[in-house]
Amino acid sequence: MTKRIILSAICLILFFAVTSCNIKENSTEMNTKTRESTTDDFQGTAGPITLVIHGGAGTILKENMTPEMEQAYREKLTEALNTGYGVLKNGGASLDAVVATIQVMEASPLFNAGIGAVYTHEGRNELDASIMDGNTGNAGAVAGVTTIKSPIRAALEVMLHSPHVMMAGPGAEAFAREQGLEMVPNSYFGTKRRKEALEKVLKNEAESTSDLLPYQDWKYGTVGAVALDKDRNIAAGTSTGGMTNKRYGRIGDSPIIGAGTFAENATCGVSCTGHGEFFIRNVVAYDIAARMKYEKLSVQESAQKVVQDKLARLGGDGGVICLDRKGNVAMEFNTPGMYRGYIKDGEPHVFIYKEQ
Ligand code: ASP
Repeated sequence: MTKRIILSAICLILFFAVTSCNIKENSTEMNTKTRESTTDDFQGTAGPITLVIHGGAGTILKENMTPEMEQAYREKLTEALNTGYGVLKNGGASLDAVVATIQVMEASPLFNAGIGAVYTHEGRNELDASIMDGNTGNAGAVAGVTTIKSPIRAALEVMLHSPHVMMAGPGAEAFAREQGLEMVPNSYFGTKRRKEALEKVLKNEAESTSDLLPYQDWKYGTVGAVALDKDRNIAAGTSTGGMTNKRYGRIGDSPIIGAGTFAENATCGVSCTGHGEFFIRNVVAYDIAARMKYEKLSVQESAQKVVQDKLARLGGDGGVICLDRKGNVAMEFNTPGMYRGYIKDGEPHVFIYKEQ
């Protein structure tokens, strides 16, 4: 009898042990499946390749624009979108798409990057650019360069072929030369339109009694791109001439990782344009990604919160473009306009003013 009781007890213990093991196994299986399906969701090969761009934010009003000017901007933005999308469609990496897209805008006098960069107080062009890989977290940047034809390409070289993140001035130029990049005289970037803008500001400055004129009526014009490739990797880049009449080697947010550019596969890619000092102090690009991560906001909610609530409250004019890993796009700005657009499923969409 006692033997039977002991035997039954052992059987019972064994039964519970096996059952609980099964439950644990099942839950591990479930966890694994959940993880797998999330991973599948992010890494499927037929991803929504997407590209979003900006060509600067500022006082861009329809009443100040001629139909020809507007047409020229729309065409160039469309060309930039089609160029980058072509790279992505051919299976290219988001980093390459970002560089190709930005190079179209750097080569155009319409934007404040490459040709058409704004002038410094001394009457020359000093360019900044940065790029970040959302997959690896690697980044590269150049600041205050004057003879590198494509600053965004130089930023990529810094990322790929140096142990550093940012190089500035003559050092960055020596590095670019060593990497075989095309060098140009500083006059290559100059345009009549930007020269006249500087002359106007200098005239106002001469007539003003204040030491430092507030930046006013800026039509920023920096360019940026964020891309998502077929492997669902995000990359973001920004290129600029900075701000008209800048002095003393001033560097804005555009070449600063976390301020003007940021990319992280788990959250989003961001490129900014606007009054750089505010973007630096508020670490805008990183803040948008961080709010997605810690506040669990969507990319649109996060961009809106940072640009419309935080930046606007502090008086920081400008805008951002953002893209998450699922291909959700956010284009948020607190200025009257922002040259911008996105392409998904092969159809480019371009916008300039607010109400569209
Ligand atoms: N953010 C740039 C800077 O402050 C200017 C711009 O966006 O146009 O240098």
